[in-house]
Amino acid sequence: MSVEYETVIGLEIHVQLKTNTKMFCSCALTFGEPPNTRTCPVCLGLPGALPVANAEAIHLGLMIGMALGCELAPRSKFDRKQYFYPDLPKGYQISQFDEPLCAGGGIGGVRIHRVHLEEDAAKLVHAGTSGRIHGSAASVVDFNRGGTPLAEIVTEPDISSAEQAGEFLRLLRTTLRVLGVSDVNMEEGSLRCDANISIRPVGQAELGVKTELKNMNSFRYIEKGIRAEVARQEALLRAGEPVTQETLHFDPRTEQLTSMRSKEEAHDYRYFPEPDLTPVLITPDMLERAHAALPELPAARQERFERDLSLHPDTAKLLAWRTELGDWFEAALAASPAGYDAAAAGPLANWTTNELITRLGTDVDPATSNVAPAALAQLVALVAAKTVTANAGKQVLDVLVAEGGDPAAIIEAQGLGAVGGEDTLAPVVQAALEANPAIAERLRGGDMKPMGVIIGHVMRETKGRADGGEVTKLVRAELGL
Ligand code: ADP
Ligand code: MG
Ligand code: ZN
Repeated sequence: MSVEYETVIGLEIHVQLKTNTKMFCSCALTFGEPPNTRTCPVCLGLPGALPVANAEAIHLGLMIGMALGCELAPRSKFDRKQYFYPDLPKGYQISQFDEPLCAGGGIGGVRIHRVHLEEDAAKLVHAGTSGRIHGSAASVVDFNRGGTPLAEIVTEPDISSAEQAGEFLRLLRTTLRVLGVSDVNMEEGSLRCDANISIRPVGQAELGVKTELKNMNSFRYIEKGIRAEVARQEALLRAGEPVTQETLHFDPRTEQLTSMRSKEEAHDYRYFPEPDLTPVLITPDMLERAHAALPELPAARQERFERDLSLHPDTAKLLAWRTELGDWFEAALAASPAGYDAAAAGPLANWTTNELITRLGTDVDPATSNVAPAALAQLVALVAAKTVTANAGKQVLDVLVAEGGDPAAIIEAQGLGAVGGEDTLAPVVQAALEANPAIAERLRGGDMKPMGVIIGHVMRETKGRADGGEVTKLVRAELGL
């Protein structure tokens, strides 16, 4: 019998904090400015320059900790993490080692190990031949990014598949975006993720040897990279070979994994407390300010949609995790003829997440579209009142998407109103029965199977504006059934 393996994943996420200035100096944060225009002695690591911790970064760190349900340390400290790299002029990074700002907590069923603050390194730019020095291709350093405040979020190894990692990261990104603490843009590097991956035989308590996939810059690549690495580890174990602890790079184009460094080359960072900074003491005032700044978070919003509006969990999640969509939906619900009411919420949510999104395109913010929230609310109410059939309602939505406007006016102008009531519909039903005498005969004899033929006939005559249920009723009445 072949061994079954299970996957174990823990994530380390770096989030660039959206402060005005850098972590330990007063240089402005930038993106895309000319190189080396936002520097000072502190972030260039010049001898004797003294760091000062950014209070706003600590505030944002506390907000993240609160949003993730962490314990917030009343006292934490900064440490020096020593290593040499050309983008690290001091020869160490100021980070937090054994006393992080936040510990514990969790989100989306994944436990958080810790959240700490640190400074970002500068950026090495491989200038290639254009930067040739003495004939060889050169790399140059842009210190603008050096010293940018980062929050590092470390999860417990609670994730068991690539899909779950993607799902967790999506919830985390939306949460951080709603908090307003970061741009959380993976391509621009304001959200970066390393994945620690191991596998073990199902039932084994002990964790397997892990590898680390570095710095992948899209959710799709992270999921792809994890899948590739899990397959590689499983092939090794099945061949009786060990997994070695190492750091890997995944190339999304070739789908190749290459080793960056092995355990033997792993750094000993020689952490020690940063002597130039006092410990961070969190006052009740700081906690209060962070708490007051917390908005409703996506997980809580999803729960509220399910609880108060009785939305299906998938629909609630779609609306709550895409903030702009949730905001638009709530604006529409508030503009409903019946007001912000649970009874209207279900159909409106379905029209928003199905019909509207399909027409606009998945990533389009409906606020930028021609469809006013009140217009969709109106339309859904007209469908509910059977003033217009669902089918004709979709035609009305086509018009709203194309040019906006008022649903009632569009129905009137295009003659899309439901054809109903005995006076109008009964003659059409009579005509349909007369046009199909054989079918009418079978119906009269109690064989209801060909009912669809009559309904189809009536729908053709009314251009889809009749209600199928009402047609059936009228057929029965007409035939005396
Ligand atoms: P390191 O010292 O190598 O950085 P840590 O113990 O600090 O390792 O853990 C870093 C990340 O790796 C955390 O997210 C943790 O949950 C995860 N992790 C630790 N051990 C394993 C393992 N065996 N398999 C998968 N993930 C792991
Ligand atoms: Mg690590
Ligand atoms: Zn500076």
